[in-house]
Amino acid sequence: MAKGYEANKQHLAEIQRLGKELGRRAHFSCEWCGAKEGLAPVDTQPALEPEVENLVLLCHGCRALYDGGDADPNRLRHLEGALWSGAPVVARTAAALLRRLGADWAEEVIEQVGIDL
Ligand SMILES: [Zn+2]
Repeated sequence: MAKGYEANKQHLAEIQRLGKELGRRAHFSCEWCGAKEGLAPVDTQPALEPEVENLVLLCHGCRALYDGGDADPNRLRHLEGALWSGAPVVARTAAALLRRLGADWAEEVIEQVGIDL
């Protein structure tokens, strides 16, 4: 148990260490919606060694959505930009969210961009 705690602590420290690089990629704003406040990295592959390629910098509201929160998909059209992100993890996570919420408008973009889900 103590070992798991230590490993988790190390995992978080590792993510912290990658924060600067992630911030630069994200231009210090939420990679889904562009918000500048309440940003924190989300590790999309918590079972693996942390890598910037698996991290997304999200604001508080977007983290709530990532964690399973509900929203009207028609009010999430501002997330379309994320689908076009040059960072595959950003596009993939945004696409997964919009698909989960049944955003019909996003399907066309997902296909157009060629996001593998
Ligand atoms: Zn956001």
